[in-house]
Amino acid sequence: DVPKQKHDYQSDVARLRKIVINSLYSHRDIFLRELISNANDALEKLRLTSLTEKEVLSGAEEMNITIKALKDDDGTGRIIITDTGIGMNPEELTTNLGTLARSGTSEFLARAESTDTTGAGNLIGAFGLGFYSSFLVADRVYVASVAAKSSKNPSPAQYVFESGADESSFEIYADPRGNTLGRGTEITLVLKPDALEYTDPQRITELVDKHSSFSSVFPIYLYTQRAEYVPVEEDEAEKKDEDDAEEVDEDEATVEDAEDETKSQEPKMKEVTVDEWIHMNSQPPIWMRDPKTVSDEEYENFYQATFKDYEKPLAWHHFSGDSGSGVSFKAIIYVPSHLDESYWQNPLLTNSRDIRLMVKRVFITSDLGEDALPKWASWVKVVVDAEDLPLNVSREMLQSTRFLKQLRSIILKHLLQVLTRTVEEDPEKWTQVQSVYGNVFKLGAVEDVKNRDKLVALTRFSTNQRNSTSLDEYLENKKKGQKQIFYLADMGSTTDHLAKSVFIEKLHARGYEVLLLTDPLDEIFVQNLRVWKRVSFQDVAKAGLRFGDEDMSPEEEKEEQKALTEEFKPLLDWLKKEAKDVVRDVVISNRLVTSSCAVVADMMGYTANIEKMMSSSHS
Ligand code: ADP
Ligand code: MG
Repeated sequence: DVPKQKHDYQSDVARLRKIVINSLYSHRDIFLRELISNANDALEKLRLTSLTEKEVLSGAEEMNITIKALKDDDGTGRIIITDTGIGMNPEELTTNLGTLARSGTSEFLARAESTDTTGAGNLIGAFGLGFYSSFLVADRVYVASVAAKSSKNPSPAQYVFESGADESSFEIYADPRGNTLGRGTEITLVLKPDALEYTDPQRITELVDKHSSFSSVFPIYLYTQRAEYVPVEEDEAEKKDEDDAEEVDEDEATVEDAEDETKSQEPKMKEVTVDEWIHMNSQPPIWMRDPKTVSDEEYENFYQATFKDYEKPLAWHHFSGDSGSGVSFKAIIYVPSHLDESYWQNPLLTNSRDIRLMVKRVFITSDLGEDALPKWASWVKVVVDAEDLPLNVSREMLQSTRFLKQLRSIILKHLLQVLTRTVEEDPEKWTQVQSVYGNVFKLGAVEDVKNRDKLVALTRFSTNQRNSTSLDEYLENKKKGQKQIFYLADMGSTTDHLAKSVFIEKLHARGYEVLLLTDPLDEIFVQNLRVWKRVSFQDVAKAGLRFGDEDMSPEEEKEEQKALTEEFKPLLDWLKKEAKDVVRDVVISNRLVTSSCAVVADMMGYTANIEKMMSSSHS
């Protein structure tokens, strides 16, 4: 008997397992996606390691994933998923499967425990449960694994991790079968009695097609058994004739005679059961295919599986290109339907982790470094497969090639194209894009000088006249003689409130449109932009406002202002004296209609809004 080492699960594993057990039945399907994704990761790791350590490849010839679904005679069912990837030694079996090493899992746990079962179910769909999703369908799980050979470990042995769905511990032991795998991992799920549907190869095929066929570039084979008719061997055939002869009665003898006439030409056939491996992902990966042959559903499924997003993408663009330095590539870029929660928490710090770079179908990295994309676009999800880079290209090497720089501007160009196309072609989707990315475009216009004009064109604003306008539409709507883009900003206020402000009374009455800015980014945006299409922005709460249709020239106005100031000097002096602690100056104005006075910010001074922001950023 092989000595077995017993380990208790860590407490968070126990918590996770509880969720698995209580989770909704309807999310069980994901177990296969998770296990295939792990097998694929293990093969990717092997391939990457092999670039520097050739010996890891010995042990098994193929790099593939195989699935067997078996219904045993006693009515139980098993699924066996095997890969020839990097494998695990006994320590790795213990830490990788006995603890929660996954980065996303603690977040998952926190959220799942604070939500009801439906919510937890959705979360499972979103995050996946990794290896633990095995227990959604299995009572007992065996993981046999042989680590890949290395200079440190020249003759690795095969070990088993074993655990039951409701046990608080797991066992690790040397596989009594010896090294049957050569290299890699074999996961055996002993199915729960109510999960026997998964022994149906049709069911497995359906799941792989939906979730995994496009995400693995390594072949996935499904084992099936098929009835086949094969010629009966010579001596076997003779024996069969004899056997048959013994049994024939009068009626059948005539049939037998008839058959005998053709016997010399046509061999006798018999039914046998043959093993067959069906290649389930024989289509090229989705990004290599002609976009015309890929359905929307395929793009969506691929996105959800690759980027682990439970929501469908808002838009995507599939294209091939040439970096300009001789690197040709194929790419798909996706616009997610939501931003990560962390996006606005860490302005200017997030860098993209979702540009999956492959070279000739081989995954290389999804971390292209800090300058991969500007912050505003760091949410974009991309798969890119380059033809003409060396397979062993490292990130450092990549950065020294011009390819990354070129890739960056190509991604941005296409991303802006997708977004611009949405404005033109799909008003409904565009509304969604605005609600998610409205502020992102403003941030982009400030941050990304090179793409500023295109980003500004995507921004929208509320005004005293309408809910949404672009700056170009604003300019088309400007009144004759109007020389400025009017805006009123009050961070944290509402557009309704702003629309009633004394500052726009007169403008509104005279038919001028005023942008109503309520988001901190709005004001940063106009202050950075200053001018759009050679028309400058004017804060209507600041001195210096000009309507453009004044009856008098600025000189005449100055004269009149002077005269009025003379006339009202006693009043102004009195006001200045009384209010000297709160205002810097008191002047005569022509900007009000019904209100009798307004407090206005200095032309060069901070507006109340920016002051608010400055003080809040110090606290
Ligand atoms: P994740 O894949 O997100 O890391 P999982 O729970 O799916 O989390 O897997 C946990 C860990 O177990 C993996 O990170 C990996 O180290 C290891 N593992 C799981 N399946 C395999 C496998 N088939 N081959 C090698 N290692 C594996
Ligand atoms: Mg995993």
